[in-house]
Amino acid sequence: MASATNSRGRKRPLSLTALCARIERAVARAPVPLLVLRLPEFERIAWRDGKRAAKRLERRAALAFEAAARRALRAGDVSAHDCGSDVFVIAMTAPARDDRAPGTADCRCVLERIAAALSLRSGLRVQTGWTAIRRFERNAGLAHEIDAALERGARERERYEFFAAIGHELRTPLTSIRGYLETLIDGALDPALAPQFLRTARREALRMGRLLDGMFEFSLLDLSADALGGRTCEVERQIELACEVVRPLADNRGIAVRAQCAARCVAALDPDACLQLLVNLLENAIKYGRDGGAVHVEASVAGADVLIRVDDDGPGIAPGERDSIFGLRVRGAHSHARPGAGIGLAIVKMIAERAGGAIRVTESPLGGARFEASLPRKAESVGRAS
Ligand code: ADP
Repeated sequence: MASATNSRGRKRPLSLTALCARIERAVARAPVPLLVLRLPEFERIAWRDGKRAAKRLERRAALAFEAAARRALRAGDVSAHDCGSDVFVIAMTAPARDDRAPGTADCRCVLERIAAALSLRSGLRVQTGWTAIRRFERNAGLAHEIDAALERGARERERYEFFAAIGHELRTPLTSIRGYLETLIDGALDPALAPQFLRTARREALRMGRLLDGMFEFSLLDLSADALGGRTCEVERQIELACEVVRPLADNRGIAVRAQCAARCVAALDPDACLQLLVNLLENAIKYGRDGGAVHVEASVAGADVLIRVDDDGPGIAPGERDSIFGLRVRGAHSHARPGAGIGLAIVKMIAERAGGAIRVTESPLGGARFEASLPRKAESVGRAS
């Protein structure tokens, strides 16, 4: 599907190849916001209902895209779609008015309007995302940018859902604190019960504090497109810092924390993110470990990865829970009676995966849980003797 004319009132989607040329020209002047919409179920429908049905659906979606783009875009912006593809793309190449380039809110607004039209006409779920193209290489450049935009969109949704969930969680303790305080103020309460009410209100206030801590921890991680990329850190230094952070907790429970770094480990990861990952794992090891027990943290080189292990002597994690505990707000079997909001491991997973690594949990030789994060090593240190 292609048309050379792509100005206001006559906008017809270009082919993705033609779009590349437009982007190349526009990016020489200013960064180009690229908006992407995808129908992820399209392939399944083609497989299930046959090519004809899929083609009809795609035609409907393409017409809806074209009409919605015509309404939402400025003269000079371009839209593109290849026949048979599940991807619809917009490059906001119009020259900025009053020196004001389209911002995040503009991109989201356009995306939402077009996604709503697309979803209404096709009856399918629409994935969306956007990215700002600053440099563009025609060969494979567009496919890469489309992936980056969709990845960013998925992260934005993840963040939105996270805050919505936290907002919901905060309402419960707040309601209960208000209830207890109002009952006390009204004086309609057996005086013997007042300390119990106050203790409950305090417990709920502490829980709110923990939820807020988790929320800020999460929001401090920059979720922009190239967030944790590009930086490196000496893992040994971050282990030292993390041990300092958790020392009061460990001392409080008489737990000895032993740290070990087998070789010079340089991970391709932002130092703050590495510290956050270590602190979360160590806090848990101390929280779930035995009073007076031991926690070990060690880093070593394993091929192209830095391997970080945190071991404890607590109850461990049952095989059936080993995947689910990394979910947001998921608390496991041994969490009762221990403070927490089920956020720490979700953050650990997010940090490890965003760096291109992974996290898993197994049994520790100390008898409890062993959390093992593999993080890519800094590029030039891979291949050197370690
Ligand atoms: P929280 O500790 O606040 O509940 P996390 O996301 O840090 O949240 O952990 C999720 C769950 O994983 C915990 O509720 C707990 O059941 C389990 N868990 C985490 N670390 C350990 C550990 N070292 N030993 C045993 N269970 C653990």
